Amino acid sequence: MFLTVHASAGLFIGQTLHQPVWSFFCALGSHYLLDIIPHGDEGIGWWIHGRPKRIWWIGLVDLSAVFLLVMMFFHFRSTPNVWPFVWALIGALLPDFLSETNYQIRQARAPLHQFAQTINKIPFFDRFLYTHNTFHHRLHWLIKRHLPWRLGILFQFLLAGAFFMLALL
Ligand SMILES: [Zn+2]
Repeated sequence: MFLTVHASAGLFIGQTLHQPVWSFFCALGSHYLLDIIPHGDEGIGWWIHGRPKRIWWIGLVDLSAVFLLVMMFFHFRSTPNVWPFVWALIGALLPDFLSETNYQIRQARAPLHQFAQTINKIPFFDRFLYTHNTFHHRLHWLIKRHLPWRLGILFQFLLAGAFFMLALL
């Protein structure tokens, strides 16, 4: 699922829970739960196939959308305490960053491979990343039915909008 959807769920959680620890763990849980729902990402593999740069473009657009969403949120809503939001956003986005790090470590031709190798010197980090990635990946296949990618993108767009509106309430 796109980071934009996870980030808007994170904003909603940060708005609802005022304890940073709770907002972090709930947002982390929300990531895994949302990934279980069929969301059409699996269908864009053909578009990326053989053209790994395309995944970077998707990532760039997705991250820019996250940045815009967060900026818009704090423009519309002033909050005395940003920490529940900060921790909720970290929790909501963390699983995809961990899986991306796992990919960068294992792909010698990946652009951030050397950097990822440096982080990988942390004891047990490699095992942790591998186990986490297996778990994270399997969640996407718990429900065997998948959405066509166009419908999936529309669904994710609506879901991100719904979480964002709820966060603004
Ligand atoms: Zn994910």
